[in-house]
Amino acid sequence: MSHFPARAVVDLAAIRGNVSALAAHAPAAQVMAVVKADAYGHGLLPSAKAAVAGGATWLGAAQVGEALELRRLGVAGPRILTWLYAPGAPLQDAIEADIDLTVSARWALDEVADAARAVGQTARVQLKVDTGLSRNGLTPADLTALLPLARRLEAEGVIDVVGLWSHLAAADEPTHPSMKRQGEVFAEALQVVEAAGVRLEVRHLASSAATLTSPGTHFDLVRPGIAVYGLSPVPQLGGPEDFGLVPAMTVEAELANVKRVEKGSGVSYSHLYVTERDTVLGLVPLGYGDGVPRHASGTQNHPGAPVRVGTRTVGVAGRVCMDQVILDLGHDATEQAGDRVELFGTGADGGPTAEDWARAAGTISYEIVTRLGARVPRVYVDSEEGS
Ligand SMILES: *Cc1c(COP(=O)(O)O)cnc(C)c1O
Repeated sequence: MSHFPARAVVDLAAIRGNVSALAAHAPAAQVMAVVKADAYGHGLLPSAKAAVAGGATWLGAAQVGEALELRRLGVAGPRILTWLYAPGAPLQDAIEADIDLTVSARWALDEVADAARAVGQTARVQLKVDTGLSRNGLTPADLTALLPLARRLEAEGVIDVVGLWSHLAAADEPTHPSMKRQGEVFAEALQVVEAAGVRLEVRHLASSAATLTSPGTHFDLVRPGIAVYGLSPVPQLGGPEDFGLVPAMTVEAELANVKRVEKGSGVSYSHLYVTERDTVLGLVPLGYGDGVPRHASGTQNHPGAPVRVGTRTVGVAGRVCMDQVILDLGHDATEQAGDRVELFGTGADGGPTAEDWARAAGTISYEIVTRLGARVPRVYVDSEEGS
């Protein structure tokens, strides 16, 4: 869309800085910046490049298509790991594009082997073991059963098993009993794989939360996602600033209308909010069609998600609509149509953050940034270039 009165401004210097902060938290490990879901809504290519510039030697993409897109866009340097696909995925393309493929089931190993034979290239494989999340991955028993075939395929030059990895269920609660248990299951799986003769290049377990709070999980590689974008994976333990992170995304809009209404005016659908005095309403041209959560609506007794207007912060008044949100700017407001408001950003000077929006909408900051709609333009700045 050529014109849109709102945007997500993404600071590439923040992404670079966040990756280098993460590397400092895990000094013995390489950093894989996870860029799935359009880099958590921040935009795949600019975010991936900034992460690499910040020191990421690997990029992580959930879907095979996302990994292929990175190569298609010219991201040639870093290793890329992908881990989520169903039978029939374009694995030949992935092998030719030099992408590491995760194997989480026997059928996947068969398909990777077939694809490698078809293109005449050795496929780099990383085995994923389910250590207790019960999501993707081989159970420890299935892993053990798979190893003879994996070793045979290695001997034939069809695959090269370079990694073993897993994912934690409760890394945001470092003392959760599953943490110790999953660590033990992972250690055992490592032993089984290495005893079978596999020479592992990388062993990895930690996403953002464990990278920041559980050093015992770092191994050779850490896989942060949300922290790359400057948001805290453990808001109950600390905000971005406590971990040396800076939120990269600021969502801002121009007010599309400003008008004076009388006391007792019902605002937005169903009149959940009624003005308590003569006041000024401001119209923000973003709504749930753009990923603004409808759960961020505000009622009389329960203010909606916070929006920065000048130097003050007001809650969303009434229902979030598909395309718009209304603010009660107050009786003495001097704003005019075209004035800039900020839904969330770095939190500097007390401004609202994605974490504040998550709290208001009963979700996590991950969802706030990732769900931001394709209709909202992404604009890239680099605060270190003084632009
Ligand atoms: C999404 C994801 C990550 C990154 O998680 P964050 O909590 O955003 O750091 C790491 N590993 C896997 C397997 C994932 O799916």
